[in-house]
Amino acid sequence: MSSDDGESAIRIDPRDSGAPTPDGPLLDVRGLHVEFRTREGVATAVNGVDYSVAAGETLAVLGESGSGKSVTAQAIMGILDTPPGYVTGGEILFKGRDLLKLGAEERRKVRGEQMAMIFQDALSSLNPVHSVGAQLGEMYRVHRGASRKDARAKAVELMDRVRIPAAKERVNDYPHQFSGGMRQRIMIAMALALEPDLIIADEPTTALDVTVQAQVMDLLAELQREYNMGLILITHDLGVVADVADKIAVMYAGRIVETAPVKELYANPAHPYSRGLLDSIPRLDQKGQELYAIKGLPPNLLRIPPGCAFNPRCPRAQDICRQEVPTLFEVTEDDGTPVQGRGSACFFWKETVHDV
Ligand code: ADP
Ligand code: MG
Repeated sequence: MSSDDGESAIRIDPRDSGAPTPDGPLLDVRGLHVEFRTREGVATAVNGVDYSVAAGETLAVLGESGSGKSVTAQAIMGILDTPPGYVTGGEILFKGRDLLKLGAEERRKVRGEQMAMIFQDALSSLNPVHSVGAQLGEMYRVHRGASRKDARAKAVELMDRVRIPAAKERVNDYPHQFSGGMRQRIMIAMALALEPDLIIADEPTTALDVTVQAQVMDLLAELQREYNMGLILITHDLGVVADVADKIAVMYAGRIVETAPVKELYANPAHPYSRGLLDSIPRLDQKGQELYAIKGLPPNLLRIPPGCAFNPRCPRAQDICRQEVPTLFEVTEDDGTPVQGRGSACFFWKETVHDV
């Protein structure tokens, strides 16, 4: 590291961020690398990602489309599309065990019982030819050996839990008979069924109307607290997660470029990319004003620019940004006190923090 005057060139450990966890975090991703080997070449979609989630904690993973948010999640769940995708480095510690070292059978067990994923598109995740009750009940029949009758009762209970009105009457309805918001509630119910320790929600409200988005997000946050689960909330929209997340990891071109407690990032982003994302959130007090948009597009992963991948779009870019890849620097107060869980992969984080 020869990036600057030396005072901030400390590699921080983003795993230290967030709630205190006496027994270590629930999930601890370290140095994860994922490649896609395609005819056009090798694309490194995840390029050394570190993040962690504790029980009862919510981590929001933010970034534009193509930044590697979903691929990281797929690697954690063990549902990566192989080929062409391969985990080529790192560790995925779940309750202290590296999932990458488990056999297929054990991995499937962890995935089925202890982790669950919620996707954006409930219609394609639910089976159109089975009632929602049958699908919810199936979880108990397969994993808990419940009778048909008990499974159905459980399904109704779950539908109540996610506040689907008239659950008893609707348990035999099919997915297409529910609205988008209600279907997403059913997805949440499916995810909760076996009371997993970790839920990964990948853009869970992106397809919904704005008002419904907030209701579904609030419900998810409420259940997460109640069940004391770890939650990873993947989104490209910071506005949606600001109220429910504890901490944020901002991704760009396969790397984490900023980590921070959510309030800190909101108040004072330390990376120009995070600042750009924040400035592109519509705000009620700026109604009518033209919305800011970060200029340009994320890079093609087969042609990542040298230096900081964000440099061609960055209003602050200097020569060093075109030459050296910045690691995650510890972000400190003006007096040098580290801010817990804060890191920025920008040579000019200090200037960025002081930007108004
Ligand atoms: P996002 O942040 O939008 O969730 P993804 O994690 O889905 O982004 O994808 C990151 C990058 O990984 C994509 O830009 C793409 O280059 C690559 N990628 C993802 N899935 C595949 C695939 N099945 N085949 C080839 N490349 C893929
Ligand atoms: Mg995605």
